[in-house]
Amino acid sequence: MILLIAAALWSWLVLVGMGAASTTVAFLKLGFIGTLTLLIAYTVLGWQFRLVADRVILAPWFLQPLSLSKQDDYLLELRRNEGAKRNTLYLVRYVANCPVCGAKGLDMVRVESGRLEFFGRLVGRCNRAPNAHVFSFDHVSKRGRFLR
Ligand SMILES: [Zn+2]
Repeated sequence: MILLIAAALWSWLVLVGMGAASTTVAFLKLGFIGTLTLLIAYTVLGWQFRLVADRVILAPWFLQPLSLSKQDDYLLELRRNEGAKRNTLYLVRYVANCPVCGAKGLDMVRVESGRLEFFGRLVGRCNRAPNAHVFSFDHVSKRGRFLR
């Protein structure tokens, strides 16, 4: 909510500045700087807000390990530490065998984005059939069910 208010205030300031610009170049410069600032703020702060709201998110690109496989499946997870009465941040990766394929060792279910069909959710996708073998993902119970 605070991020939205800050973005709205910034957009309003940029629009007022653009309205007061004397030349077209100054107008375009202000629009470019305003858009760039919002994009940078979203990149830096957006994942932190999503982490607090959802308790588990795909880790941002700079926390994913460097590899050639292009599998960005590491997660940032907030776990409640009841003893200390605070949250602890974990960088984790969940992998399981696909129960549909049933070929242990050849298939792998990884946590990925839900894309448009399961927007805002994390789902488990099989590497052999990523659009057909889709499972729900629950980071607390460590269980999932078939979604198709
Ligand atoms: Zn599968």
